[in-house]
Amino acid sequence: MLFKGGGALEVLAGIDTFAFDKTGTLTTGRAAVTRIVALDGDEAGFLALLAGLEAGSEHHIAAAIAREVAARGIAAARVVDVTARPGLGILGRDDRGPLWAGNSYLAEEMGARIDQPELRALTDTAQTVIGLGRGPELLGAVCVADEARASSAPALSALRRGGVRRIVMMTGDRRPVALRIGADLGLKPDEIHAEMLPQDKVRAVGEMAANGKVAFVGDGVNDAAALARADIGIAMGAAGSEVALQAADVALLSEDMERLADAHRLARRASVVIRQNLAFAIGAMLMLVAGGLFFDLPLPLAVIGHEGGTVLVVLNGLRLLSDPIRRPKQRAVPQPAAAMPRNSVPTG
Ligand code: ADP
Ligand code: MG
Repeated sequence: MLFKGGGALEVLAGIDTFAFDKTGTLTTGRAAVTRIVALDGDEAGFLALLAGLEAGSEHHIAAAIAREVAARGIAAARVVDVTARPGLGILGRDDRGPLWAGNSYLAEEMGARIDQPELRALTDTAQTVIGLGRGPELLGAVCVADEARASSAPALSALRRGGVRRIVMMTGDRRPVALRIGADLGLKPDEIHAEMLPQDKVRAVGEMAANGKVAFVGDGVNDAAALARADIGIAMGAAGSEVALQAADVALLSEDMERLADAHRLARRASVVIRQNLAFAIGAMLMLVAGGLFFDLPLPLAVIGHEGGTVLVVLNGLRLLSDPIRRPKQRAVPQPAAAMPRNSVPTG
């Protein structure tokens, strides 16, 4: 975890609500294309066009499509004037005219529909459905599926155990996808917010910030504004975008979500130690002053009291170094037995 200053560590200790982005944050972001329906039957031509358009996007969906066409050995079509519609999809133009690719909201805006009977096999799944169209004419659609990170569910339970009152997931994706991933993570339906545009995420963070401190954890793809709006923005540093690192106060430099729970626990311990030290130092000062003024405290004793107090404060602070945060080195060792306790040192 990279903290941009000690202030972020203190704020992290007092967080009431953790709001998570879904795609690329709670999920791996390494999505795969699972189904393809080209309405004219020409799957290769359809994928070439879709890949040409998505080549201009930094979204996880675009990367999934690029991997699919590369695996099939299809060359992407030439698409120009590409512009992103954050939270909706992408627009562009080829030599036959304007094109779009995106979700049902973007389709609706273009006068097309994704929920047609030919696409029932796609829309009935709990996967992300991306339509490709030319104005009001839908050319086809693909399903893209992504899975929760293995470390996400344990991280969420550790945060709850650590005293976080509320955890929510926010996504621009379809509700069935959000509910499936949320269920995998042990989230209740009222903790899952789907079909949100980037500005909806900012508004929701603002509303939650009215009842306590809010942390937003995101990868910066369509959520940099929410990262900046929250009391503390936590960026997925390794998996996230450049803009996320700029907007955030904390960056998670590993893909391991449990590091976030570790950092939260360390922040809470640090805040307890800070309070203990302040109380102790002020108490010791008052005693020494009272001793000096009213009880003829000998100077050597006063010096020992003053310097000794400083040493105790430092020693109390050093207790934080004993925090049993799992070291990356230790984690790199393959753990053969599932029953092995978390912090044990592998032998043999
Ligand atoms: P999340 O909140 O889950 O991270 P986003 O806000 O990034 O999701 O995107 C929301 C939805 O917008 C996606 O599920 C997808 O339907 C659509 N979308 C966004 N970018 C693209 C793109 N480049 N191509 C197609 N669809 C996109
Ligand atoms: Mg995202």
